[in-house]
Amino acid sequence: MTFETLGLNPSIIKALTEAGYTVPTPVQEQAIPAAIEGRDLLVSSQTGSGKTAAFMLPALQKLSLLPQAAVPAKTPNQEKQATRARGERPRFQPAQPKMLVLTPTRELALQVTTATDKYGSFMRRVRAVSILGGMPYPKQMQLLSKNPEILVATPGRLIDHMESGKIDFSQLQILVLDEADRMLDMGFIDDIEKIVAATPDSRQTMLFSATLDGVVGNMAKRITNNPLVIQI
Ligand code: AMP
Repeated sequence: MTFETLGLNPSIIKALTEAGYTVPTPVQEQAIPAAIEGRDLLVSSQTGSGKTAAFMLPALQKLSLLPQAAVPAKTPNQEKQATRARGERPRFQPAQPKMLVLTPTRELALQVTTATDKYGSFMRRVRAVSILGGMPYPKQMQLLSKNPEILVATPGRLIDHMESGKIDFSQLQILVLDEADRMLDMGFIDDIEKIVAATPDSRQTMLFSATLDGVVGNMAKRITNNPLVIQI
């Protein structure tokens, strides 16, 4: 089995070759073709199985095929100046991400963001940013003001931005819950439910977890639609 036969396009294959990946891992073999088709996934797999690429490669492919967002006629600064000139107060335009990856920890979020930059290095620029607890707000506002396609976030801080109108999930197409069992163990269930409720029902959902039993399994059933279940 090769990455080509899984249906990935040449710019992704080029990045994988550069990264030294020659053969897909078992979770990648099963997840990538189904995710490219747009199916929801429930995956039980461990850290080190190659799960990040299993969700990120098909997601990058899908995002790169979307029509490019129209380039605004004015830069954000010009827009602000024009607003002030009209005697109005400038308003923050909420970010409208196409993809959201929720992770239990800052470390994992940063790993996912770094991997995304690596996998997408030969593609039309698809930007990924991390939104994390403990990061200064001005820095996060600056990242959000660039309207990145992909947000990688821990649930608590994301809720703060969502509730203060800084992020609008109405355009979201892909939702990933990475290490979902750990997020639930850490008490994030209410935050996750709120975030999921703010996203369109038409989204593609991919959930990764060490186990798919019990509370995780119940949540997975509620938030996915006819998922392919993969047990590694
Ligand atoms: P993950 O489970 O996503 O944290 O990945 C574990 C490690 O395996 C990371 O260092 C990846 O860069 C690496 N990796 C993922 N997929 C492959 C692959 N198909 N071939 C070689 N290394 C890989």
